[in-house]
Amino acid sequence: MASTVKDAILRGRKTVETVVEGGLNTVETVVEAGLNTVDAVVGKGRRGVESAVSLGRRTVEHTLLHGRGTMQAAVLHGREDIRIEEVPIPKAEAGELVVRVGAALTCGTDLKVFRRGYHARMIVPPALFGHELAGTVVQAGEGVGDFTAGDRVVALNSAPCGQCFFCERGQENLCDDILFNNGAYAEFIRIPARIVAKNTLHIPDHVKLEYAALTEPLACAVHGFEDSRPRPGDTVAVIGGGPLGLMILHVAALAGCETIAIVKHDGQVEAAKQLGASHVVQTTSIRKAIKETRALTEKNRGVDIAVEAVGVPEAWQEAVELVRKGGCVNFFGGCALGTHVTLDTNRIHYSDITLRATFHHTPAICRKALELIAGGRFQAQAFITGHAHLYELNRVFEELMNRGSEIKTAIVP
Ligand SMILES: [Zn+2]
Ligand SMILES: [Zn+2]
Repeated sequence: MASTVKDAILRGRKTVETVVEGGLNTVETVVEAGLNTVDAVVGKGRRGVESAVSLGRRTVEHTLLHGRGTMQAAVLHGREDIRIEEVPIPKAEAGELVVRVGAALTCGTDLKVFRRGYHARMIVPPALFGHELAGTVVQAGEGVGDFTAGDRVVALNSAPCGQCFFCERGQENLCDDILFNNGAYAEFIRIPARIVAKNTLHIPDHVKLEYAALTEPLACAVHGFEDSRPRPGDTVAVIGGGPLGLMILHVAALAGCETIAIVKHDGQVEAAKQLGASHVVQTTSIRKAIKETRALTEKNRGVDIAVEAVGVPEAWQEAVELVRKGGCVNFFGGCALGTHVTLDTNRIHYSDITLRATFHHTPAICRKALELIAGGRFQAQAFITGHAHLYELNRVFEELMNRGSEIKTAIVP
């Protein structure tokens, strides 16, 4: 009897153990299979997400460039009439680039164009607008070897032909067939093949895009200064406290000249001092400007170089009165079409005064300007006093017309 019970217990335990063991095996198999399934699902899910993200990114980029087809851009329609419109995103043909604009700077020339509604040489409305920019290449056309998508570049607003009478003589700024490009106040800009080949520059990594965008105006300033044939230690007077006047002043100060800034507004006095002016003459009276400037030179002799950077006939006349015998006047500021000035020929002849009128820049000077910006001594940050979105462009220009204290505003699309 007892053995029967024992037997039964033993058999029962074995059965239980078998069942438990079988059960454990089954559970382990299930768990293992489950884990495999989870891993597979997670892996698959992750791959799915990754591919969706990358597909999404590609789609967004593609849409931006091709699918969407349009971008926001400022279009100049005429006098004081800028409209932000949807226009086609440009595509890079052979030799061309499409650049995503990182910063486009306001400029005195653009302000003039805004006020007058046209520019004799650069822009006929309706037209894309803006010419000082730096950005990132998004598309390089066939045959472009020097640039590829992702490169940070500054593309100048023009390029000379390289073949005409003037180009062959190294006066590319006067090229008979100079090609201008506008359209910086936009999300993207097309850079024509000739500008890609001759006047598009790589930006060193440490230079901000908005600072690199100063290359164009700074090239004009460097050109105007060098064209005035400065000698070390010369005294240079600059009439006008606008962006270009201040740039010439700064370039002259960096070159070791004694500098006199002749300005009207309080903000310009501060800026001129910050940019290295040795003296500042603040006045709206031409007679006072001449008297005070001459008084700053030995025996009221007059300055070695006077640069006019306003672009009005009175300032042209004033400049001639500032220089010493044998001095140089640079009529740097362009006046409105049809403007004439009256000058004292007696003074110009018997005082042996050199008259120059520097216009625009050459490829070599553009490179020099970017080097100056990258070099660290040039105070790029002092020239960019505001930031605004493309949508605010009209307001920005209205404020510039009302002579605010802004020097340049970086338009960020
Ligand atoms: Zn400009
Ligand atoms: Zn040419």
